[in-house]
Amino acid sequence: MFSISRKLRRENKTVGFVPTMGALHAGHFSLVKEARQMSDIVIVSIFVNPKQFGDRTDLETYPRDLTADAARLADYGVDYVFAPETPEMYPEGFSTYVYVENLSELFEGASRPGHFRGVATVVTILLNTIRPDFAFFGQKDAQQVTIVKRLATDLGFETEIVVLPTIREESGLAMSSRNELLVPEEREKAAVLFNALSEAKAAYKKGERNALELTQIVQKVIQAEPLAAIDYIAVVDQETLQPIDKVGDKEALIALAARFGKVRLIDNILLNQKQ
Ligand code: AMP
Repeated sequence: MFSISRKLRRENKTVGFVPTMGALHAGHFSLVKEARQMSDIVIVSIFVNPKQFGDRTDLETYPRDLTADAARLADYGVDYVFAPETPEMYPEGFSTYVYVENLSELFEGASRPGHFRGVATVVTILLNTIRPDFAFFGQKDAQQVTIVKRLATDLGFETEIVVLPTIREESGLAMSSRNELLVPEEREKAAVLFNALSEAKAAYKKGERNALELTQIVQKVIQAEPLAAIDYIAVVDQETLQPIDKVGDKEALIALAARFGKVRLIDNILLNQKQ
């Protein structure tokens, strides 16, 4: 991969890069489509990164379908699919990690210790190997977006981090490879997460700025669904991930995680996006 990216740079081709863990769905393809529009060459990586999974079972049950993924990516005009085996990413003796302070232990990091260290490390290796002009990430993983932007700034990557909106199923459920692990009833009922966030956003649009009130709207809607178990609901600043009391001018979002059976789902809604 390193030599291909060096060759592309020599040819002055712009490179758009989409990192994924495979089991691709419309959320991933929206990133690929934008990459195709913005860059001469599109590279997609597929790597289920063991270092970002604390739980072995979660890693083992994570859906994988490389053959189908590669075929779909060809349909979208992707130039290169980079699907390394683990030793290629982490050769013997591997001992260097990237840890983004302050942001990594909150929310998702609290229930998944080490998760963002794994994410930051793999993203750093990928950006350093591929050196893309643009790298595309989904707003679906809002905390990941904040952490990746921070590391790209702090480590001096020239890559522009492009963030694209969450793609949803018809019911409103945010698309996720993990949705495949839900039984049909859970999948249907999981739409409550987006309904709850949408109610809070409607209240925000009508003038509600108090974070506690907004949180309670979300909580009330989700609690009415017996299959859902709330992990957290928080109104936070997108750049610092710090909880806020009142939504002001800075970009803020409501983020949540909830369990349906064994499956943990996350979602969020931006309240005052800039564009
Ligand atoms: P993953 O394969 O889950 O690691 O996701 C790869 C990229 O796709 C990440 O930047 C995710 O945020 C993004 N992504 C996943 N689901 C969605 C979605 N429903 N809408 C938009 N982007 C998504």
